[in-house]
Amino acid sequence: MHPNKAMIDLAALRHNIGALRHQLPNNVIFMAVMKANAYGHGVVPIAKEALHAGAGYLGVAMVSEGVALRESGVSAPILVMGGAIAAYAPDIVAYDLEATVYTRDALMALETEAAAAKKHVGIHIEYDTGMNRIGITSLAELQSLLRALQGCGHVNLCGLSTHFAVSEIEDKTFTQLQADRFIEAASLVRSMGLHPLLHAANSGALLDMPDTLSFDMVRAGIAMYGYHPGPGCGRRVLLRPVLRLTSLVNTVKTIRPGDTVSYGRTYTAPKDRRIATIPIGYGDGYMRCMSHKANVLLHGKRAPVVGVICMDQLMVDVSDIINVAVGDEAVLIGSQGGDAITAEDLAEWAGTIPYEVLLAISPRVPRINMNGTCALN
Ligand SMILES: *Cc1c(COP(=O)(O)O)cnc(C)c1O
Repeated sequence: MHPNKAMIDLAALRHNIGALRHQLPNNVIFMAVMKANAYGHGVVPIAKEALHAGAGYLGVAMVSEGVALRESGVSAPILVMGGAIAAYAPDIVAYDLEATVYTRDALMALETEAAAAKKHVGIHIEYDTGMNRIGITSLAELQSLLRALQGCGHVNLCGLSTHFAVSEIEDKTFTQLQADRFIEAASLVRSMGLHPLLHAANSGALLDMPDTLSFDMVRAGIAMYGYHPGPGCGRRVLLRPVLRLTSLVNTVKTIRPGDTVSYGRTYTAPKDRRIATIPIGYGDGYMRCMSHKANVLLHGKRAPVVGVICMDQLMVDVSDIINVAVGDEAVLIGSQGGDAITAEDLAEWAGTIPYEVLLAISPRVPRINMNGTCALN
């Protein structure tokens, strides 16, 4: 019996994909972004459910993530969104992954590998419109890569992509500028007789500007998992968090005025306090920097974390919550009674974003399918 659980609500995932697809023009393909173990949710069941719910493509960051999906039996198109280098070509070709390409080197390595395997390999050219991360940065370079591509008999141009830097903020001026540059690149590609899928939108863009920024395909990550990418973004679309993180009380005791709690003795009881110990800590991804800020739900009420969060345990003050007992459910992310704690709350306590909070949940925490009985990892 493990006290900690990340309960994965696949019905919520289905709901979110439905709600997001509902925003989009009908023929737009929905790419479900699966990188980093599906944002910490457990990649294989999430991938299968997303495909069930109508996703037409899966997106990963690393070749190894694509390989793992293929080995689990997924046959849908998988785009490796991280930039391809020549060294990736053997796995890309062997596992029928699609590569993000913007250099002649990577293109040629893929052509050579695919020709040797008597296969075709799909690529997406990334055009950098302002993120300055990966991609081609000028139309001239794009044109020369397209010329090189014309000599490659084993490479298919499946997509042309770009990535938005600030699509989640209210002011869409820079996003629109990026979209305009992308459209210019797309015109050049079309003028050479090529018709790849155009895709640019992440959650921020698809939530706020589904009609103008969706192009042929959107790449949805955080919104699919139930969170808005920024405070002002897409709030009219109701999303349901997919992950619920729970533990249980394993000790309750009373401490006296002047007693201290946890390493470093950073908390001193001002008067008699009831303290509950919960067996979850930064070894599970419940970040230590949230010490003295975080709350945990017990009996539907907020219990403040006191003292520093340990690797495997943390302590909460339950003086104001009656009858807390060993075995009671403690909710770290999710609702209980009338209250709820979200990954956004944890992000605020930790000084980060919900993405990092969800990804931080370590492999030690079992992912459990809430809608069935099977464990997910
Ligand atoms: C992570 C990622 C996405 C998804 O971003 P969200 O904000 O989670 O929707 C889309 N495209 C690329 C290239 C990414 O790296």
